[in-house]
Amino acid sequence: MGLGAGKSSGLAGFAVEILDVKKSFGKFQALDGVSFNVEQGEFFALLGPNGAGKTTLISALAGLSKPDSGSLKVMGFDVRTQYKQARQVLGIVPQEIVFDPFFSVREILRMQSGYFGIRNNDAWINELLEKLSLTDKADKNMRALSGGMKRRVLVAQALVHKPPVIVLDEPTAGVDVELRQTLWAFVRQLNQQGHTILLTTHYLEEAQQLCSRLCMMKQGKVVALDTTANLLAGFSERVLRVALKGNATLPASLAPRRMKSDSIWHYFSISAYQEVEDILALLRTNEIGIEKLEVTEPELEDVFLKIMKKA
Ligand code: ADP
Ligand code: MG
Repeated sequence: MGLGAGKSSGLAGFAVEILDVKKSFGKFQALDGVSFNVEQGEFFALLGPNGAGKTTLISALAGLSKPDSGSLKVMGFDVRTQYKQARQVLGIVPQEIVFDPFFSVREILRMQSGYFGIRNNDAWINELLEKLSLTDKADKNMRALSGGMKRRVLVAQALVHKPPVIVLDEPTAGVDVELRQTLWAFVRQLNQQGHTILLTTHYLEEAQQLCSRLCMMKQGKVVALDTTANLLAGFSERVLRVALKGNATLPASLAPRRMKSDSIWHYFSISAYQEVEDILALLRTNEIGIEKLEVTEPELEDVFLKIMKKA
């Protein structure tokens, strides 16, 4: 029964605890009883189609919007009753870019440090600028920066107080490849240093590469919550694709089994390897040779689409 803040934020606790959070906008239920925990040190993904409620949940976690019911904690601190402590241990990179255009990058980062009561933060600010390749932009006004550069400043701003828990809401939406790589290298490093990372992204291959566990949301509800490895392993469908010698036409008996074809490949969804043998046998019966053949393992994208369809 956490009395003192120190106790309830003990090292053994969760980084993020979300319990039965509900939030509606008028008649529209944006969050419909969301619950999940994130362990300290995890690299965790929050996924879901547009409108699933991810940003609404993150803004409740940041204490920026008040849920109708349920509770949210960061490092054991309740975001409502212990707002100040919860805010101190959390760094949020928001989805929307909003800045005062008249301040320079360095001024923004100094003000944000001041907001957290940190003076003489220049050594860390310089390191952040360096890590995010912003050093030569430090004295430029925000309005002079490109969208990608502004997003780097958002990341730096979220990190001025070295928060143990870092939330990134679609940080790579509309961002060039170079920034994506810089950003991921940096975030991975922060995670290795012990920071907990909660990431929302539309790029499922990023989530698959980076995140050890994930939560999928749809229409304000959690529809999947598991490790990335389990979700991929539990997905039995693989894709067989074959290119036929002389670009032969697919025999009529195989056409109904085919998912799709392009100018080179014919694709088949298979749930057991026996099906590969069946397809090859049918080709041989029809005296059609094989130019190339591949069986691809499922991607997170496949798992995601299947879960979203089912939910
Ligand atoms: P996501 O981040 O998963 O794309 P959001 O959390 O931004 O989804 O939005 C979830 C749903 O809630 C959307 O349908 C959105 O239109 C609605 N919504 C979000 N904020 C508001 C608001 N302030 N007023 C009314 N509806 C909102
Ligand atoms: Mg969003």
